[in-house]
Amino acid sequence: MQNRGKYHNSQSSLENLHLISYCPLCNTHYNPSEADILEQEDGAHLIHVSCSKCSSSIVAVIISSGIGISSVGLITDLSADDVLYFKSGSRVNEDDVIDAVKSVSKGELIKLLNE
Ligand SMILES: [Zn+2]
Repeated sequence: MQNRGKYHNSQSSLENLHLISYCPLCNTHYNPSEADILEQEDGAHLIHVSCSKCSSSIVAVIISSGIGISSVGLITDLSADDVLYFKSGSRVNEDDVIDAVKSVSKGELIKLLNE
């Protein structure tokens, strides 16, 4: 996790990025120090911000290029560590889906959920 750091330490500032400056759920202004940079590469940043007021989180990709800065964000219940875990995980394939359906029909899922 050597690329991980606090956003205010990098060249770009969260203050410039209106799209991810406010919590989409409660409109609280994010403190730039609450943003975690999970990864950065060639002007693209993957960041995670948790709202100190309502505890919701967003994951966003911010891309800065010669023509400006664009960002895509989504509300998530993943923690910063979860994002990194799932990012490096393997994709769900057809066999995984079939296995999941089989285990539901055998009642194994309900057993798992009750454990
Ligand atoms: Zn909030």
